[in-house]
Amino acid sequence: MSIADNIQRVQERIAAACARSGRNPREVTLVVVTKQQPVDAMLAVVAAGLQHLGENRVKEAAVKIPQVAAAATQPITWHMIGHIQSRKAKQVAPLFDLVQSVDSLRLAQRLSRLAQASERELPILLEINVSGEASKYGLTGYNWYKDAALREQLWREVAAIMALPSLEVRGLMTMAPFGAEEQAIRRVFADLSALRDSLDADLPELSMGMTDDFPIAIEEGATMIRVGRAIFGERK
Ligand SMILES: *Cc1c(COP(=O)(O)O)cnc(C)c1O
Repeated sequence: MSIADNIQRVQERIAAACARSGRNPREVTLVVVTKQQPVDAMLAVVAAGLQHLGENRVKEAAVKIPQVAAAATQPITWHMIGHIQSRKAKQVAPLFDLVQSVDSLRLAQRLSRLAQASERELPILLEINVSGEASKYGLTGYNWYKDAALREQLWREVAAIMALPSLEVRGLMTMAPFGAEEQAIRRVFADLSALRDSLDADLPELSMGMTDDFPIAIEEGATMIRVGRAIFGERK
């Protein structure tokens, strides 16, 4: 199967999930996760007509993004989806169009200062740890609807980030528990969607769903899905 064939399959599955849930496929942006993929595979994605690419490591992205951008025939929207170490924050703003993985107030403050210094507005999503897994990054959002103290803390953090200059908070991002049952995965996505609705703010984007669970995420309201293996095959 070629990359173009795999993209077509994914698009058919997006359309099917939208049909099941009464949604328009135009509401769902497919972000192709190109981590560990070579530049020629990334260019095959662009040649197939997709323009949203996602990377999870600053170091790798800093090498590949200029190469792909130089060779591509269309403009590309670059998404940062991985955890950002403080000392790497400086490189993020010039490389990426949307930083999906803002997982702490500290990181947001740092990105805000850097964006301000470079006189630009940086679009971001807030990564929320809804599943409660210790291995996952994000603002703590596990059982947010049951735990009033946690909820107030989370709302305060979100409000503090939204008040920072030079950041444009467009929505929320999460990851489902790895290898969990469908019901548990669905619950995490539904919790993120309900959290967004509970925040009294304009946060249109919900980035959730990867190769193993994107149809469920779409049924639960995802506006962005982040897909790697379904397009490139297993990573090494
Ligand atoms: C790797 C990665 C993905 C894509 O995962 P696949 O299983 O390859 O679809 C999505 N989101 C994040 C944050 C990732 O790190």
